[in-house]
Amino acid sequence: MNIILLGPPGAGKGTQALRLVEQYGMRQLSTGDMLRAAVKAGTPVGLEAKAVMERGELVSDEIVSALIDDELRVMGAETGAIFDGYPRTKQQAKSLEEILASHGRTLDHVIELEVNEDALVDRITGRFTCASCGANYHDRHKLPAVDGVCDKCGSTEFKRRPDDNEETVRMRMQEYRAKTAPILPVYDEQGIVSRVDGMARIEDVTSSLDAILA
Ligand SMILES: [Zn+2]
Repeated sequence: MNIILLGPPGAGKGTQALRLVEQYGMRQLSTGDMLRAAVKAGTPVGLEAKAVMERGELVSDEIVSALIDDELRVMGAETGAIFDGYPRTKQQAKSLEEILASHGRTLDHVIELEVNEDALVDRITGRFTCASCGANYHDRHKLPAVDGVCDKCGSTEFKRRPDDNEETVRMRMQEYRAKTAPILPVYDEQGIVSRVDGMARIEDVTSSLDAILA
């Protein structure tokens, strides 16, 4: 089984991918993670990527394709792949199709986590986590029982991601609509797109994914 999870940043792709990994033993192929791992391991692709980044340039589609190719080879044919945050452009979608084919794989599902932009802004701008245990909280929807004290571990230190602000969320949403959403018609034609309400409760989104993959 090979699937793509699509949706703007904050739609919950990472959370759901983790659940699929745990439940079905699939492998999550996050290009950012693979890139960091390859650079650290000093593989040929990693060294090439490192040189490119040191020149302050963006990593090319060819390098990303090579990373995915390497990963699929290591994984073996029996392990399913979840692509999360990739492909982002039509060109990458085409590359992915070719890479999968070269490994005898086909794309089974493209699942879009749909979001309401205003609700997404509300979700992201209010979130914060315990600096000690990582428990999740929210300014408007899930405050600790005792103000300023983590429910789980009692820590009084909390943290917020610097890019969890309205401007960034709206900019990413716009970028998603402009670049990534246009790749969906290609997959629609193949009849493999499913759309899930990404604003639903995490458990409900998981149930929807289970139904699609069943
Ligand atoms: Zn805590």
